[in-house]
Amino acid sequence: MEKIIIVGAGFSGATIARLFAESGKDVIVVDRRDTIGGNAYDYVDKTGIIVQPYGPHIFHTHDKQVFDFLSNFTEWNKYEHRVKAKIRKDKFVPVPFNLTSLFALFPKEKAERIKNVLVEEIGLDKKVPILQLKKHKSAEIRDFADFVYKHIFYIYTMKQWGFKPEHLGEEVMNRVPVYVSYEDRYFVDEYQYMPKKGFADLIANILRHPRIKLKLHTDAKKEITLSDGVIYLSGKPLDGTLIYTGCVDELFDYKFGVLPYRSLKFKFQTLKTPSFQESAVVNYTTSHKYTRITEFSKFTSQPQENTVIVKEYPKKFKKGKNIPYYPIPIEKNRKHYLQYEEEAKKYKELYLLGRLAKYKYIDMDDAVKASIELYEQITGDDYDLSMITKPENN
Ligand code: FAD
Ligand code: UDP
Repeated sequence: MEKIIIVGAGFSGATIARLFAESGKDVIVVDRRDTIGGNAYDYVDKTGIIVQPYGPHIFHTHDKQVFDFLSNFTEWNKYEHRVKAKIRKDKFVPVPFNLTSLFALFPKEKAERIKNVLVEEIGLDKKVPILQLKKHKSAEIRDFADFVYKHIFYIYTMKQWGFKPEHLGEEVMNRVPVYVSYEDRYFVDEYQYMPKKGFADLIANILRHPRIKLKLHTDAKKEITLSDGVIYLSGKPLDGTLIYTGCVDELFDYKFGVLPYRSLKFKFQTLKTPSFQESAVVNYTTSHKYTRITEFSKFTSQPQENTVIVKEYPKKFKKGKNIPYYPIPIEKNRKHYLQYEEEAKKYKELYLLGRLAKYKYIDMDDAVKASIELYEQITGDDYDLSMITKPENN
């Protein structure tokens, strides 16, 4: 019988598995980790706080289809993310940099003047990427942009990527624009929530379906080989479809070389205090080796005596030694990736999906969206919310 094998039990793999299962197909999902959820995995630690071992994940989307799909599998807590940047000793300002940040850092008269120029030239309530602001025709705006660039973007970006903001370009830098408004939320998407019982619980509910067989602790690379347009499973040609959400270079045994990624090292601490910092995340934009500190209890407002924090230290990616967290989306790497994408096209029943296989800097909602689109592409059917059978006990 025709098999559907999905490699990876993160947002991408789980979503597409569920859609196939709902359409009456049997699906096998494998993950080499012994946990589900990919990098969005979380768990309740001994303090009772939901902790995210692969870094802070906050759900946000403007896409109703994605939100409605996920709402089948979780209840939500309203949570609007706010971030402060520590730019000097005891000086914390909101990021994205906004008019509140401006007035906190400049003398009132100067701040008023800059605000007026920004409003006149860019417009109130507008968002503008820092690299665009730096090239503005107004000298006063350029001076302001240089200040923001220096205090918010340059050092953080050098730490995070090992490159200057200019080198990275829009896919990365446009994620956090400058706001000509008093908007102080990190995201302005319509839907901003945290799953009540965490992301792993949400993914477990997506995967809980009689037609989905989940195999954890299973490395697909040990079972699957690709050769001359044929996918082999345990040595035999695969009669079916392979959807792959792992690293594409690994899938093809690095035949075009290792793709560059950025890795992270996390240092967790449990502290005997109910609150460590003012906001869930504080970015260290001018100092320290770590980029940010996250305090998990602030995502859920769980009352507790202790608190859990994590510091993120960006690292070079070393194949086999650490985790490839971020693809580095610059032109050179994109071209490198395209060699793999071309190679993948030789395999009619192979589909690449997700942050690693597509080598794209995508968020969880993008992963769900792309999974819905791929399902539609493969089956030729339209996805419809009514095809999801509502789980009874999530
Ligand atoms: P992944 O979550 O990477 O899952 C891929 C899975 O495939 C993994 O479980 C892996 O073990 C498995 N796998 C790979 N190779 C094999 C193999 N050979 N055999 C078996 N299994 C294999 N997004 C947001 O929306 N909001 C946020 O706040 C946010 N914060 C983030 C913070 C950090 C530090 C990082 C790194 C990412 C963040 N993201 C955030 C992005 C989010 O993690 C991704 O968009 C999402 O997890 C992508 O899901 P995925 O299924 O494509 O990939
Ligand atoms: N960034 C920055 N300073 C900040 C916040 C973000 O320089 O205070 C830059 C940095 O290059 C970062 C990118 O903007 O990698 C995207 O930020 P985001 O918070 O979206 O990163 P993620 O949560 O995906 O790691």
